Amino acid sequence: MNKKIFSENCNLSSYTSIKVGGVAEYFAEPKSIEELSYLMKWANLNKQRCQIIGAGSNLLINNTFIKGLVMCTKKLKSLKIDPYSGIVEAEAGVMLPTLSNALAKNGLQGGEWAVGIPGTLGGAIYMNAGTSNISLAKNLISVKVINNKTNEELEIKKKDITFEYRFSSFQINDLTIISARLHFEPNGDLEQIIQTTKNNLKVKTETQPYHLPSFGSVFKNPENNYAAKLIDDMGLKGYRIGGAEISTMHSNFIINNSSASSKDIYELITLIQQKVLQKKGIYLQPEVRMIGFDYPN
Ligand SMILES: Cc1cc2nc3c(=O)[nH]c(=O)nc-3n(C[C@H](O)[C@H](O)[C@H](O)COP(=O)(O)OP(=O)(O)OC[C@H]3O[C@@H](n4cnc5c(N)ncnc54)[C@H](O)[C@@H]3O)c2cc1C
Repeated sequence: MNKKIFSENCNLSSYTSIKVGGVAEYFAEPKSIEELSYLMKWANLNKQRCQIIGAGSNLLINNTFIKGLVMCTKKLKSLKIDPYSGIVEAEAGVMLPTLSNALAKNGLQGGEWAVGIPGTLGGAIYMNAGTSNISLAKNLISVKVINNKTNEELEIKKKDITFEYRFSSFQINDLTIISARLHFEPNGDLEQIIQTTKNNLKVKTETQPYHLPSFGSVFKNPENNYAAKLIDDMGLKGYRIGGAEISTMHSNFIINNSSASSKDIYELITLIQQKVLQKKGIYLQPEVRMIGFDYPN
């Protein structure tokens, strides 16, 4: 394989927002969709497992040797915005804050909420990331993907994708998101959109440990309840295992106090689940995706 487009034995900790990760046997950051497609074909031909990551902002990677190829989409960042029609064409690696700010500057309404989510467009579609009542699904027209098995490229219309709370059908099919077409409302009040975008980021940084290594909310909110409240009720705020700590600012966040291992974090996740299940009879389902664990994602 071409040595220039992948590396071997790559430490993944700097590719996750919680700054923890194992060592990937092969690692690549393709700069184009052609390069990504080529790498996927190589993985298939050589019977190597291929795993896709975006900004790693919702990922716990075990501190082990990860066999096969890990590909990060962050260099796929072409973004085309038509301010008149409101049509946006973006590659999977475009960061949501970049998208949100670019929409605001172009007077397009509807992406203001996304400014504080430090993930890629591909990751956000896969996770159906959003705030309490809005996600990108609202503005989506279609998604371009590559079939991981056949390497076939296809475009899927929104109506053929299932979106639920922090769930999309991409979590159960074998497709890699390469780009998306979206529509946002044109001709908005530029100043107001910019102000709302700025305020949304301010609220995030004031209510979450935004600048510390974390992966955002660890658990999905159970129906008619809040994971953060349940964790608070257990008296777990500030509880630590090794370098992993339940944030004192937001109990549904685990932060890495510089020296956490993936084991510390995993054990803390399990401990929370056990306590909440024992005392409240509620199973907290992780929102965080895991690589290199036996945990059923
Ligand atoms: C400080 C902080 C605040 C956050 N706030 C929010 C919030 O308000 N709302 C919210 O919903 N989330 C939030 N998150 C979580 C996270 O940012 C989102 O889930 C985000 O969408 C993940 O995108 P990513 O690119 O980082 O994906 P990654 O973490 O890299 O990957 C997540 C999953 O998506 C898959 N994936 C990624 N890219 C692709 C692709 N192109 N094709 C196929 N599969 C892919 C990966 O395999 C993995 O299973 C927050 C995280 C942090 C650290």
